[in-house]
This record gives sequence, C-alpha cells and structure tokens, in this order.
Amino acid sequence: MRIKMNISFILFLFISFYLGYIKIISIILISVLIHELGHGIAAKILGINVMEIQLFPFGAIAIMENIIKYGGIEELIIASVGPITSLIIALVFFQFEGNFSDLVFKYNFALFLFNLIPALPLDGGRILRNILLLRLSYKRATKILTICGKVLAILIVLFNTYLLIIGITTLSYIITGIFVFIGAIKEERNCSYVYLLSRNNKKKRVLKRKGRGIRLLTVSKATDLKSIIEQFSPMNICIIRVLDERGGILKELSEADILDGFLAKDYYSKVKDIL
Ligand SMILES: [Zn+2]
Repeated sequence: MRIKMNISFILFLFISFYLGYIKIISIILISVLIHELGHGIAAKILGINVMEIQLFPFGAIAIMENIIKYGGIEELIIASVGPITSLIIALVFFQFEGNFSDLVFKYNFALFLFNLIPALPLDGGRILRNILLLRLSYKRATKILTICGKVLAILIVLFNTYLLIIGITTLSYIITGIFVFIGAIKEERNCSYVYLLSRNNKKKRVLKRKGRGIRLLTVSKATDLKSIIEQFSPMNICIIRVLDERGGILKELSEADILDGFLAKDYYSKVKDIL
C-alpha cells in the first residue's frame, strides 16, 4: 500500500509550517492518517486490497484494487469506519483538559462531521451511494453524488470569500473546497472508466469472432453481474455462457452485455435481470 500526498497538500503543509502553524498541522496530519488507518484496517479485514491512499486535509481518498470489487456492503462498512474512528478520537480527547487536547478534539470532531456530508468524494457520499445503489445504477448514483460534491465545493469557497470580505484572513476553506472539487472529478472519472471499459468491449466483440484469447465463463441465472465483471481481464475476452438448471445452454453473453447490464441496472443485479 502506497501513501501518496497530493502535491497541493504538500504545498499546504509547507506554507503552514512556514507560517508557524506546526502544532495544528501535526494534529491535522496525524488525525487524517488515523482516520485513514480506520478505513484501511476495515478494508483489510474484508479482504480488499488498498493500493494507494491520497492524503487531503479533510481526509483521504483510498484507491482500492478494483472499483467493482470495492462496492456494495463492503464499501458501506469501509466508508463508515473512517468517521467512526475520528469520532472515537474526538471523544477520547474531550475527556482531557488543555489546549492540545482541545485542538485534537475539535479537529477530529470536524473531520467526523464533515465526512458525513452526503457528497462524493467524502465518506458520507460513499455511504449514501451504496444506499442509492439499491434503486439506481452505479453510474447514476455516482453522478448525483459528485454533483453534490461540486456544489459543496463551491459553497465552501463562497463561505471563505465571505470570511475574507468581513475581514477574517483565512484560505483553509478555499483549499478544502478545491480538494473536494478535484476529488469529485476523480470519482466521476473512476466511474467513466467502467463506462469506457464497456465501450471498449463493444469493439472487442469483433475480435471475439477471430477467436483470440477467449475465456469461457459458465454462470447461472442467479450469478451476480458484479462477480462476473471481477473475472474480466484486458488480456482476454470472456464469453459468458448462461446455463439452466439442467446444465443446458440458455444463452451466450458478451462482456459488453454484462457491463451494459451492470451500468444500466442496479448494483446488485443478477444474470437473470439482463436476459
Ligand atoms: Zn474517510
């Protein structure tokens, strides 16, 4: 697992260090890391490989090994553990007196509250997306929540502008707003990656007829689309053979059929839903 700091975050740390906010910055950095460790440990327990963690002042974005694998109830649990971790730290430090404890409490409580806002890329957005997936497709749910993220980012920037107008010199909200906006765009791109994969596979249908690197997957009507997509690889083309109860061939589907079905229907769709 790599921990990557966003270049603007490094800049932000550097400026804060220069301005003498070393204490606050240490608290922010450690709090964000512990928050993320919460996500990471939850993912590990659920058997999901975290490839990369990108640190932001409001939390972090974890890049999981596969966005299809990372979804559903697992994502819901992993997303919830981060804010819960921050809340626990906040409650622990609430017991202690002093300036340092007060800062730790305030920042962690803010991290907890902020991450509960239902907008992507925040944890709250991830939690809500997985609830929306019960009714909406992955693409639609992502779209709605990234729009929420962008609106939130704009509101944060406007709030900071208001603070500047009334004479409070701060840029931390503007910086947070920018991070949220970038994060929302990244989430959208992740989703369109699934979409591109789907388009790409339509082209590959032609290749399929030439018989190059074909893998045959046999599934039943009750198989989850998600579990089929997990087996796709750019190295070969899968043909999905749907068998009936007696083992006879019901239908043959292409990767594109499965991906289109997955994007159009809801996250928990099974083969029978797209036949
Ligand atoms: Zn988080």
